[in-house]
Amino acid sequence: MTPITSFAGKSVAVFGLGGSGLATAAALVAGGAKVVAWDDNADSVAKAAAAGIPTADLRSIDFGGFGALVLSPGVPLTHPKPHWTVELAKAASIEIIGDIELFCRERRAIAPRSPFIAITGTNGKSTTTALIAHLFRTDGWDVQLGGNIGTAILSLEPPAKDRIHIVECSSFQIDLAPTIDPTVGILLNLTEDHLDRHDTMERYAAIKARLVRGAETAVVGIDDDWCSTIASDLDKRGTPVERISVRRPVANGFYADNGRIFEADDTVVRQVANLGGIGALRGAHNAQNAAAAIAAARAIGMSELSMLEGLRSFPGLAHRMEEVGRIGKVLFVNDSKATNADAAEKALASFDRIYWIAGGKPKTGGITSLEPYFPRIAKAYLIGAAAEEFAATLAGKVDTVISGTMDAAVIAAARDAAQDGAAEAVVLLSPACASYDQYPNFEKRGDHFRSLVLALEGAKALVEVK
Ligand code: ADP
Repeated sequence: MTPITSFAGKSVAVFGLGGSGLATAAALVAGGAKVVAWDDNADSVAKAAAAGIPTADLRSIDFGGFGALVLSPGVPLTHPKPHWTVELAKAASIEIIGDIELFCRERRAIAPRSPFIAITGTNGKSTTTALIAHLFRTDGWDVQLGGNIGTAILSLEPPAKDRIHIVECSSFQIDLAPTIDPTVGILLNLTEDHLDRHDTMERYAAIKARLVRGAETAVVGIDDDWCSTIASDLDKRGTPVERISVRRPVANGFYADNGRIFEADDTVVRQVANLGGIGALRGAHNAQNAAAAIAAARAIGMSELSMLEGLRSFPGLAHRMEEVGRIGKVLFVNDSKATNADAAEKALASFDRIYWIAGGKPKTGGITSLEPYFPRIAKAYLIGAAAEEFAATLAGKVDTVISGTMDAAVIAAARDAAQDGAAEAVVLLSPACASYDQYPNFEKRGDHFRSLVLALEGAKALVEVK
């Protein structure tokens, strides 16, 4: 845990007692703050009280006595409308902050030179964060990995020399971190998302930009106009920027061409890595993630040997183009996290001979946008509520069967792929749908796929094969 001392002896209101809220309240208590914690959910309040955190209904307390309101990122700060605690804090003119802000203040107080890498973007945050953590572990560092992925930031060990914090940040978390100041700040990309919480794309982009604006070194993917503008603004402010592109060479920074990553400064261009053959980093989207990770490793001063070894041994994240098993020439890939067509597109673009398991609870637009990839699909196996709709889109273009369930789809796809004449065929679960019609969440869906694959005769788990 990282005890938070900046509010020692002062009263602090904490609202939102899920995983990160509980960790925040505990860290404030450990640092000597007088915490009053609350949640709209009675069970969460009971859990906090059982953990020894002082709780009370914040409606009954004068906010003028608090030094701050510490809010969970899931609680609306501005849109669709400010939460009632936000209104009370504003009326009392007290600051409203979150756990990342508390961490940054503590770091400045106790170990300002300790390395801290913060990662954001609309897509690829978790992969990039996990990859950077893996690179630094390979290089022998004491790695503290958390934030929006896995462990809450204040449950991590405190900043210290020879220890590195690698922290995924959502836009909601950055919105509550006005002075975020990482050693390296990474902004991967920006596309429309979460506008229910941020109202306009301009506001969403401005919040994401804060993470790189406060950084000692900024790493910015410039393949979309929003991020490209942000990089130019950083130039004007004098913040050092490493540009990342998977579309074109950059004069200063890192770019990808066919899985090879190049580093360029004004005078020299050289290849720093080749992602060919690294299953967990297939596809242009992963080249963007890898280039950003390499830029961060470089900025902190990692040796090239460790970086290359770390890239090669990166196992990837579960449910994101995860290679779960193999039977002879048939590879089985779990991309259950692809809950919309945009995400499924990344997987379809990464393989040539695909036995595609898709469907679930459909999203607006279905899979019509995926038509350019239909020639790569040897056969489609449709499951869940979207099956009929998807079958209609694929009709006359792709050989399709309505399997209904994952069990039926896996068996049929494995059988058909085994008979394919190509050198490698892929059974790909990339549903382009939410899972809620058949599963509690995408993780359970992916786990089911994995267990069905590993139960097939002759299946080898890839961890054993590697
Ligand atoms: P996040 O944490 O931002 O949701 P993940 O790393 O979990 O991102 O990846 C989620 C999905 O987003 C992946 O399955 C893939 O389809 C897509 N994706 C990953 N990286 C990128 C990227 N750099 N650009 C666009 N899409 C990406």
